[in-house]
Amino acid sequence: MKIYIDGKYYDKDQAKISVFDHGLLYGDGVFEGLRIYDGKIFKLKEHLIRLYQSAKAILLDVSLNKKEMEKAVLDAVKMNEKNNGYIRLLVTRGEGSLGIDPGKCPHSSVIIIVGDIDVYPQECYEKGIRIITSSIRRSSVESLDPRIKSLNYLNNIMAKIEAKQAGCLEAVMLNKDGMVAECTGDNIFIIKNRIAYTPLVQNGILEGITRNTVFELLNDTNIKFCETSLSSYDLYNADECFLTGSAVEIIPVIMIDGRVIGDGTLGFYTKKLIKNFKLKTAG
Ligand code: PMP
Repeated sequence: MKIYIDGKYYDKDQAKISVFDHGLLYGDGVFEGLRIYDGKIFKLKEHLIRLYQSAKAILLDVSLNKKEMEKAVLDAVKMNEKNNGYIRLLVTRGEGSLGIDPGKCPHSSVIIIVGDIDVYPQECYEKGIRIITSSIRRSSVESLDPRIKSLNYLNNIMAKIEAKQAGCLEAVMLNKDGMVAECTGDNIFIIKNRIAYTPLVQNGILEGITRNTVFELLNDTNIKFCETSLSSYDLYNADECFLTGSAVEIIPVIMIDGRVIGDGTLGFYTKKLIKNFKLKTAG
């Protein structure tokens, strides 16, 4: 494994950054998680757009422009000879002083890790997972807008801990108004009466690239969909539910807070979307 840090490649055990990097000290930075399918990076342009938008939102000056970043990512994949895998692309605020002031960090850092990710066992994709609603609310648009894919994931991590303590793999987080936002690392969809619903970006979510890909798949198959505010009631009474993300792809949910979703098995639309997603990402 060859890891890219600021223009140079390092072996895994040599790939190190400063303990004064504000990415470590304060979670000050942004990132993307991308997939490589059959030698092609899925939605690379979309991920780069989101990365630079996140960086702009936190006033982070990225040392490479978008074209240079694209080349760096492609080169890193080539260097690692990866045909199928996962890319973690990070931009940290860089080395600074111990104080919080980002003005003391003269150079941001770019890190590219090309590896693998296996979030859930295969069985979860065949049988679905159980989730809970977390008591931790998703950070509000007024504090840390979830559209910013920042290195500060504590909000989500606390909800993930709660899920695991409840014997579940994932938790859905509500926004400060009590409406459904998203899960700790994925967006959420439901199907009700043959229509797909998912929370609005304005409800305080990351605008997921897999979420947008699911919109494309729904359009291709003439399934109506609607971005709207959803409550726990809507989730509990859904016919089907699934989560989307670059790492998890599309994962079915069969129980939420002890309520069985639909008949408790993989729904017709979820199955169809998983199949079409595989076709879209292949070759
Ligand atoms: N929400 C959160 C909080 C996430 O971390 C992710 C994964 N990056 C997603 C949603 C899904 O986004 P994407 O489909 O772009 O991976």
